Amino acid sequence: MDIDSDNENILIVAPTGQDASLASEIFRRAGLGSEVFPRVPELLVRLQSSCGMIFLAEEALNIESAGSLRQALLNQEAWSDLPVLIMVSSQGRGPSGQKVLDLFGPTVNVSLIERPFHTTTLISSVKVFLRARRRQYQVRHLLNELTDALRQRDEFVSIASHELKTPLTALKLQNQISKRALSSEGAHLLTPDKIARSVETADRQLDRLSVLVEDLLDVSRIRAGKLKIETADFDLSQLTKQVVEQLAPQLAAAGSAIQFEGTDEALGCWDSLRIEQVVTNLISNAIKYGSGKPIRVSVSVIEEKAVLSVQDQGVGILPEDQVRIFERFERVASENKVSGLGLGLYIVRQIVEMHGGRIWVESTLGRGSTFKVELPLRERAKERRARLG
Ligand code: ADP
Repeated sequence: MDIDSDNENILIVAPTGQDASLASEIFRRAGLGSEVFPRVPELLVRLQSSCGMIFLAEEALNIESAGSLRQALLNQEAWSDLPVLIMVSSQGRGPSGQKVLDLFGPTVNVSLIERPFHTTTLISSVKVFLRARRRQYQVRHLLNELTDALRQRDEFVSIASHELKTPLTALKLQNQISKRALSSEGAHLLTPDKIARSVETADRQLDRLSVLVEDLLDVSRIRAGKLKIETADFDLSQLTKQVVEQLAPQLAAAGSAIQFEGTDEALGCWDSLRIEQVVTNLISNAIKYGSGKPIRVSVSVIEEKAVLSVQDQGVGILPEDQVRIFERFERVASENKVSGLGLGLYIVRQIVEMHGGRIWVESTLGRGSTFKVELPLRERAKERRARLG
């Protein structure tokens, strides 16, 4: 919601005698804010920002001012239906109620209150109008949220298509090369060495595709509450060491050295596949965003918790982005040159939280980042599971 959308002031135009100040006083006593305008044109300027409703005396209206007010009301955004309450007189002063209504026509939210009226009558009507207006602002807020979500989804679809297309293009190219080689003129190109390299390239692209598709599926599972955790006892250090070993080719390709330090005390009852996903994701990010500099991975036990720490000396993350990156689709804009869907850390956070743990990042822009995951140790995990029944 924008800053002034909470403004529920009643905008008053009542040019005759004390009408305006009396109305303003009545509203003030009822705890309602108001602003007085000498004429309709000044009121129209004020309508460009938020307000609760308009309260007019019929004397403020002539064909011209009613016409411009009607036009302003017709020009409102789709969510807005600003209420206008007009004081009319039954004693022949100014146009009759029907004439006033005719000036506006049926498409705007105009109602009448006839003088003399009791204060209670006025306040009760005004409160109903203000309540309806509040709902309109709520609708606007929801609309803005929906528009943002749609924009985010559209951006995501475009990034995802691009990300999926890159390995597909590489695979297609690889296939064309193989086909040509299989033809009679290219047969001499089919050395075992070349075949092995081609299969390896295809494998890498397929791995990339399946990681992307798995991430998309995981997000759907999380959103549907269907991501399940299957726990068993294992050692976090052992598992992390294995992941470091598995990632050796990527580390070599990025030119990053890795240092691992473990403990034999980090025993827990966790989902090994999901925790492997967490560790793989964090180290892969350290490779992706680590500028080829050394990476340090450690597993330790601090205050009854197993703590995994993945530290790089790469691009780093601004303080204002350090919470946002754990949300769905969130990426740091300046990192667009590195491919990714902005889903990894979201999935990682969900997995860690499903284990009763937490994840956070400590980082300085341009100096590097340390991602830390804290998980309950075995005894804790057992107690928790017993509690959850
Ligand atoms: P992806 O890497 O696919 O974009 P993630 O959810 O894994 O998605 O990460 C979200 C964003 O967080 C990344 O786009 C990047 O901007 C930032 N980020 C993640 N890890 C690091 C890191 N080690 N160093 C700097 N920035 C990082």
